[in-house]
Amino acid sequence: MSGRRDVEIFAGNFTQQEPIPEEGIEAALRVLRHGRLHRYNEAAGEVAEAALLEEEFASMTGAKYALAVASGGYALGCALRALGMAHGERVLTNAFTLAPVPGAIAAAGGVPVFVDVTEDLVIDLDDLAAKAAGCRLLMLSHMRGHLVDMDRLMALCDRLGILVIEDCAHTMGATWRGVASGRHGVMACYSMQTYKHINSGEGGFLVSDDAAAMARAVLLSGSYMLYGKHRAAPPPEAFEAARMVTPNVSGRMDNLRAAILRPQLRALPERVARWGALYRALEAGLPAVPGITLIHRPAEEVFVGSSFQFRLADWSPARIGLYLSRCLARGVELKWFGAEKPAAFTSRYDHWEYAPKQSLPQTDRILAGLIDLRLPLTFTPEDCAQIARILKAEALTVGQAAEPEAVVAPVIQ
Ligand SMILES: *Cc1c(COP(=O)(O)O)cnc(C)c1O
Repeated sequence: MSGRRDVEIFAGNFTQQEPIPEEGIEAALRVLRHGRLHRYNEAAGEVAEAALLEEEFASMTGAKYALAVASGGYALGCALRALGMAHGERVLTNAFTLAPVPGAIAAAGGVPVFVDVTEDLVIDLDDLAAKAAGCRLLMLSHMRGHLVDMDRLMALCDRLGILVIEDCAHTMGATWRGVASGRHGVMACYSMQTYKHINSGEGGFLVSDDAAAMARAVLLSGSYMLYGKHRAAPPPEAFEAARMVTPNVSGRMDNLRAAILRPQLRALPERVARWGALYRALEAGLPAVPGITLIHRPAEEVFVGSSFQFRLADWSPARIGLYLSRCLARGVELKWFGAEKPAAFTSRYDHWEYAPKQSLPQTDRILAGLIDLRLPLTFTPEDCAQIARILKAEALTVGQAAEPEAVVAPVIQ
């Protein structure tokens, strides 16, 4: 950079989350002091933190049943197995998502079939209909919190006889026309990994109203014959058909992490409101900037603004690389879905070479210019306004610069 003193530099940290609430720290210490970390290790009359957490999550989402597990990725694989995915079965999923999604399909023995993304960053329903023949399952990823028209999607999938598993890693706390994200499909999966909406380092939830599928999920998660200790699981008779024939694929939640999560779950509505304010502050600072295309948000959606995307729609890779470098020099860390190689957490469908090679020119065009940034709750709306000023100023500068010679993009963690 020029070193000019009048150039604003953002000093915030894009990967710094808020601390665990004191209440969660105290609850965690109680678990550490009594030592009963395993969810089925209860003292007489005690109800495990993991069982209480599930009960509270079921009540929050309105789901009949909830199961807490070791990670979001585990929840995705568990849902596929619980719904009886066959070995070699083709499973529809978003081309625009992150590695745990196709990874869960492949790891459970399925074959990912990628569906195009639209300019609004949601699944393309025409492409979905075109690819649906012979498929029974859709793993629908609400990637970066963008909800497709859930009424249209469910009508289409019901007509095609497709079961929908929702990947709500980025939509915990979001709603579509007042319905909690995760309540449209037959099963839904959430993540409590540090960068999601509640944080226990690692963790996941599965919710469903389907007693038979949920009984299989509980058994799969490693409940042995202790499923009666759950408080948000189907009744014992729902387990009869499955209990001797369902393999144990251990992936349980433990009481330590559950203790950390319970107060965060209570704080989720307040967090969603704060994320909304951050998102809107950033968006408000980027009206009609030449080069920058903002992403449309439908009025039916209450979203969680834990990240922000925009498109540099017609820019060359070299120009985008220059933009990323210049923004980074001013403290603004951007990720790019158009990069040739996967970097840190960011990768793209054609990087997942364990899946059959597929060609999606529409997705390629959209991801080529797609820029992404995190908005941790340690940021303020004023921080977001400053980030927007930097994004805007650099877009104006780089948009007018001569074509750079080579693609040199920084790698962001
Ligand atoms: C984080 C994430 C998951 C789940 O990941 P875990 O790290 O296993 O909890 C699933 N889908 C998406 C889109 C994610 O970002």
